[in-house]
Formats: sequence, C-alpha cells, structure tokens
Amino acid sequence: MTQIETVETLKRRMAETKALKGATDVLGWDQQTYMPTGGGGARADQITALSKVIHQMATGRETENLLEAAERDSKDLDPDSDDAAYLRVARRDFNRAAKMPEELVARMARITTLGYEAWHEARAASDYGKFAPWLEQILGLSREVAELRGYKESIYDALLDEYEPGMKASDVQSMFQAIKPDLVGLVKAVAALGPNAIDDSVLKRDFDEGRQEAFGKTVVSALGFDWTRGRQDRAVHPFCTSFTRGDVRITTRFEPNFLPAALFGSMHETGHALYEQGVGTRFDGNVLGGGTSLGVHESQSRLWENLVGRSKPFWQAFYPDLQQAFPEQLGSVAPADWYRAINKVEPSLIRVEADEVTYNLHILLRFEMEVALLEGKVSVGDAPALWNAKTEEYLGLTPPDDAQGILQDVHWSGGGIGYFPTYSVGNLLSVQLFEAANEALGGEVSAQIARKEFGPLHDWLQENIYQYGRKYDPRALVQRVTGRPLDPAPYLRYLQAKFGDVYGLSGKG
Ligand code: ZN
Repeated sequence: MTQIETVETLKRRMAETKALKGATDVLGWDQQTYMPTGGGGARADQITALSKVIHQMATGRETENLLEAAERDSKDLDPDSDDAAYLRVARRDFNRAAKMPEELVARMARITTLGYEAWHEARAASDYGKFAPWLEQILGLSREVAELRGYKESIYDALLDEYEPGMKASDVQSMFQAIKPDLVGLVKAVAALGPNAIDDSVLKRDFDEGRQEAFGKTVVSALGFDWTRGRQDRAVHPFCTSFTRGDVRITTRFEPNFLPAALFGSMHETGHALYEQGVGTRFDGNVLGGGTSLGVHESQSRLWENLVGRSKPFWQAFYPDLQQAFPEQLGSVAPADWYRAINKVEPSLIRVEADEVTYNLHILLRFEMEVALLEGKVSVGDAPALWNAKTEEYLGLTPPDDAQGILQDVHWSGGGIGYFPTYSVGNLLSVQLFEAANEALGGEVSAQIARKEFGPLHDWLQENIYQYGRKYDPRALVQRVTGRPLDPAPYLRYLQAKFGDVYGLSGKG
C-alpha cells in the first residue's frame, strides 16, 4: 500500500474506536443529567462493557499492525503536517492504552461509575462515610495505573500527564510558588478594607429560574454557541461534553438566590463548548478532534467567563438587558455597584463560586491533598480533617460540614485524580492568550465587547487555537500562539490591575 493508503486505513480503524468512545460519553452525559438513580447499576454494566470493547480495539494486534505500517510508510512526512501529528498522537494514545490490562480498564469503569453515584448520595447527605470506601478504591486504582504508566520523579506525574501532557508535579509546585505571594497579598489588602468594602447582597436576591435561563441563553448565543450543534441541560455539577464537533453538550445549575451560579457557570461551559465546536472539520472522527489538554480547555472557559464575562465592557453592553429581565431586583442597582458585586473578593468554601483571586488557593489545596493521599501521607479516613485544616490555613474558614468541604467536587468520584492543577494552568493561560488576541486585534477587544461584538475575538481563537484540536501539544501551542511558554506574569498583572481598580488599591501592589 502507499503511504496515504496505510494512514487512511489506520484512520478508519481508529474512527470506529472514537465512535464507541462517543457512545460511552453519551451514557455518561445521561447519567449526570436525566438518568434516575435506579439506573446506576445497569449504567455501570453498560459503560464497563463498552470500555472493554474500546480497549480491545484500541490496543489490539490489528490496530498495532496498522499503526506500525503507517509509521513505516510515513517517514518522510512534513513534521508539521496533519498526518504527522495524527501519527504522533495515535502512537501516544496507543502506548498509553496498551500498558493497561483489560481487567483493570473494566474495573476502573465500574468503580468510577458506581463511585459517582456514591459521591452524589454522600454529598446530598453530607456523609463522607458513604464515599470513603469508594475513594479508597479509586486511589488504589490510580496508584496501579500510575505504576503501569511509569514516572521518574513523582507518582503524581503519571496521572497529571493524562490531563496536561508533559506537565509534572514539580512544575505545578513552581507555578504555585510564582503566584501565591501575589494572591495572598491581594487577599490581605482586600481584607484590610473590612468585610463591607463591597456589598454583594444584590446577587442574593430572589431570581426567577425561568428568567435566569432565558437571559443565560441570550448570553450563550451572543458569545457564539451554535445551538444546531449543541444543547444545554441541567446537572448537579455543571460540565461540558462533546461527542463530536456537531454535538456538544453544556450543563448548568440554577440557584434561585444566587444569580452568578448559572450566569457565569453558563459562560464558563460555553467557553469549553466554543473550543469543541471550533475544531476543524478535517478532524471529524479523528484522534486529533477535541481539545489538546485540560489546561488549554480551561483557558477557554475562563477567558469567556472572566476576561469577557466579568469585565466592565461586557456589562456596559449587557447590564441594561439584565435589569430588564429582573427590574425589581436590579432596577435601582447602579452599573458600577453591579460590576463591583460580581468581582467581590472574599474567601469562601466552595471552589466553583470562588472569585478570581482566591480561586487558585482552592486548587493549591486540592493539589496538596491529592499528593498526600496518593503518597499515603494521609489516610482516606483522616482526609476530611486535613482538608479542613488546609481550608483554615489558605482561606481562613472552617467547613461546617463535608458537603461544603471534601465532598464538594465530583472529580475524584470519576477517577479524576491529577486533574485539578489544570484549572490553575487554565487561569494563567486565559490571560496570556487574551493578551495575545488583544494585541493581534489592535487593542480593540474591550471596545468590541462593549458593542456586543464577540466575532473578532471568537474568530481569532478559532483561527489560532480551536481549529487545530490536538494537532499541537499544549506547550507547542502556547509557544506558537504567544511566542513563549506558559507565563504567570500576564495573569498577575491582570489581577493587580483589575482588583486594584475594583478596590481602589492603586499604588499598593
Ligand atoms: Zn471548566
């Protein structure tokens, strides 16, 4: 066969695996949105059965032979071509999967599916004891997986690499060392102004759910979400999932007495969705379809949620519409007071509701918890006490119960250990990328946002990031787009400038 034929044969084979993976993701989406709790056991059977078949196809002799043949026939491919990238990513996925025995894959699928159900119940009852045995099993599985994959420095590296290729625990530590002094300094400077420097009670009025949903959809549409290739539903823990670029699902959670939850949550998930909907059509059914890493993915959700959604120009444009949707609640609230309320800095217990300054402290806490749990430095039984002690240390608060402490996040229940640092990568990268976009667009992005013109920013992201899917690994992509590696400086400049302005801290650093 010719070079093109062998690569195309491999692609057809791998497209079938990807289709089955998409079907598994539909089952996962359904589990988190509409499935009654009674379906949990059968759903675990379904996902386990599919995971086994996918694993057999992904690691079987036929796939291996096709991959080897395609590699042999493609030695003179341009390294920057789509096919060269395809072979690099296919090889990486193959090697990773081939290290995992089928029995372990099946056990993982079953335990994380049932673990999710147990977490859901435990969180609702704020009963850590209901989740602890599952966490124990999930940690055991994670250690098994990490040992099979191998690592040089830390067991954590083997897990983190799945979410953020190339990143190590030591990189995460350096990242936090670089940002922590500024974060702590800002929190202190704000705290010195007293608890009433900003009144955010306007966010906690009674907001009709139907109106929240309608306004949210207006914003999601304005940002560029394509409703012919996606939909929005409700979930306990909001997320975005993509079966193909033609079917991208976002979810949200409405709280009648806290407007930001659904409003900014929807913008966040829309950012993820724009990335998935924007992958080039040439990667349909292809291993290069989808986002290149969770950190780059999160940079997009945070860019649209914070750099756009919590900015002054955005609310210049949308505040009159919001007031019209909620005349009783917001009719007499001045735009400047609204802007300050949505940007109030206040240590809180819940990560997903944290402001931009304290958010990364929540991630630092989780990263340290994961390392301690994986390395066996803290037992599953003692984990809530350590969580609470770290919450006290970093945020000055004590969780009144485990639902507002160690049980608040879904990730561990689904096996997502090593996932959290990608949130901080995303925060840093969101500003680095936004700066690059703004520079390329002649410094006009704020003015465009104030006119509800999101097209230029969206087009730039599409052109420079979204279309490439997984073609460039995260480090290569960031270098390509911004001319340098991940850099905390733009993020710190942004926080100092924005919150210096919100709180009138100018000159204090
Ligand atoms: Zn996100």
